[in-house]
Order: sequence, then C-alpha cells, then structure tokens
Amino acid sequence: MSAPHQEAAPLFPNDVELRGALEKAGLRFTRQRAAVYQFLAGATAHPTAEDVFAAVRQQLPKISLATVYKALDALVESALVTKITHLDGPCRYDCLGGAHYHFHCLNTGRIFDLPTAYDPDLLQKLDPQLVETLRRRGFQVTGYRLELLGVAFPET
Ligand SMILES: [Zn+2]
Repeated sequence: MSAPHQEAAPLFPNDVELRGALEKAGLRFTRQRAAVYQFLAGATAHPTAEDVFAAVRQQLPKISLATVYKALDALVESALVTKITHLDGPCRYDCLGGAHYHFHCLNTGRIFDLPTAYDPDLLQKLDPQLVETLRRRGFQVTGYRLELLGVAFPET
C-alpha cells in the first residue's frame, strides 16, 4: 500500500519554516507551539487537545492545558494543522497537509489517515448531477470530506 502524503518531501516543516508560517499569520513562534507541532507531526491517530497536553507536558512540565489550546489555535490559524470536529466527541487535530481521507474508530474516537489517494473527481463519479443540482438550490460546493466508520483493532 502506498501513502500518497509520504511521497511529498519535506513532509513537515522544521522550526525555521514553522516560525515563518506562524509569523505569516501574524503569530509568534514559541517553544510551546513548536513542541505541540512536533508532537502532532509524529502522532498517528489525530490526538485531542488533552492527548497533546499529556504528551507535551513530559517535555515542558510547566505548560498548561490553556497554553496547549492556544498553541493548537495558532497552528490551525497558520494553516499548519486542521481541526477535526465531531458531534460525539472532542476535537482532534491533524497536521497532515493536503486533502486526504480518514477512518474513524467508533469505539475509541481515534481517527486514522487512509493509505489511498484523494480523488478530486469523486463527487462527479458519485453523481454527475449533484454539484449542479445543489447550485440550483442555492448551495456552492467547495470540497468534500470522506470518513470511513468502523472499529480499529486494539493493537492498531
Ligand atoms: Zn488526517
């Protein structure tokens, strides 16, 4: 299986690029923000803010949950991280850039990236009339998200 996002290099920005992206959004580069980003870049199941807090605390014992939330907001604002919201659970954070698909474990709420290429024409294949039908009803389609639902085996 090939993961399309692994072909693009470099996958995640280094500290200099991270600083550039934050400053471009009018935000400061801080050690806390760098630590939060670093953890997200190595995480596989799209952690919650609490997960990030628990992990980053090992490295920065004085960091607060509020600071973690602010760091996550700054990273989302800088377009380095995407916030995934769910009605039935806490927000999760994704630092894999580019459009991609997810698998959502209904037992644990964890979210995994799918090792399949994103298809920009999937809506067209699903229903060639859909986008035009929606436009006539007053909806402009700007993109789509696909999330498979199921159960991840415990060792995943
Ligand atoms: Zn993802």
